[in-house]
Amino acid sequence: MNNKKSVISKYVLAIIAISSIVSCSKNNNPTTSNNTTVPAVYSKIYGATSITNDGTFITIKTNGVPDHKSAYYPTTNALYEAYGGTTFGGNTFVKNPNTIATQSFTFKIPVNPAVATNHAATPLGAIGVALNGVALYNQYAGPNNQALAGEIASFDKYYGHPQQTGQYHYHVEPLYLTTVKSTKSGLMGFLLDGFPVYGPQEENGAVVTSSGLDVYHGHTHSTIDFPNGIYHYHFTADSPYMNGNGYYGTPGTVTQ
Ligand SMILES: [Zn+2]
Ligand SMILES: [Zn+2]
Repeated sequence: MNNKKSVISKYVLAIIAISSIVSCSKNNNPTTSNNTTVPAVYSKIYGATSITNDGTFITIKTNGVPDHKSAYYPTTNALYEAYGGTTFGGNTFVKNPNTIATQSFTFKIPVNPAVATNHAATPLGAIGVALNGVALYNQYAGPNNQALAGEIASFDKYYGHPQQTGQYHYHVEPLYLTTVKSTKSGLMGFLLDGFPVYGPQEENGAVVTSSGLDVYHGHTHSTIDFPNGIYHYHFTADSPYMNGNGYYGTPGTVTQ
């Protein structure tokens, strides 16, 4: 009786095993062909609603709103906080008329970033994504390379602000990430060309300034996230703050 039972269960198991092999080959392993494993470093983008990898591009979706308090949230929002202190560069905060609104970003960045032959200029609007899902903007306030200087006082206590349509963004060091979520030397996000952006210090504590970087505002060495070395941008206290004369690599896309 017991022997017969075990023979039958072995037979059943064998059928299950064979049928799963057959179904695997029949479906051409769909779970890996269209959804390659996402490298661990991208999981640092904790504000993303989804992160996928098609083998060529990492697709990062975010709602673009900060996970920290801001004077730019509607007063009804739990993250609203009145602010009257100083901001980036020691400026006294002066609120702009805009209010944070939820976005629907899809960033597609190359999984294997490479230096571009012709370095494309960065456009106005989102040029990258921070770890909390907030957009990263270049060093200009408007068309024809308008200087950012006049807008700096409108950066909130964590150095971000929204533009006319409520899209919140950082042009300079995202202070919540460098002081609360990570450190001054930590990974802060990625630009659309797939190259990472780091805080204003190196891992040994050395403060990075623009004079130590190339014209795109980066350089190459190993980091804790990329032990074999990688080109990376740095936030700096001095202009141009995060990116210089365009993308070092070939940019992917952002849609909203
Ligand atoms: Zn701005
Ligand atoms: Zn560096």
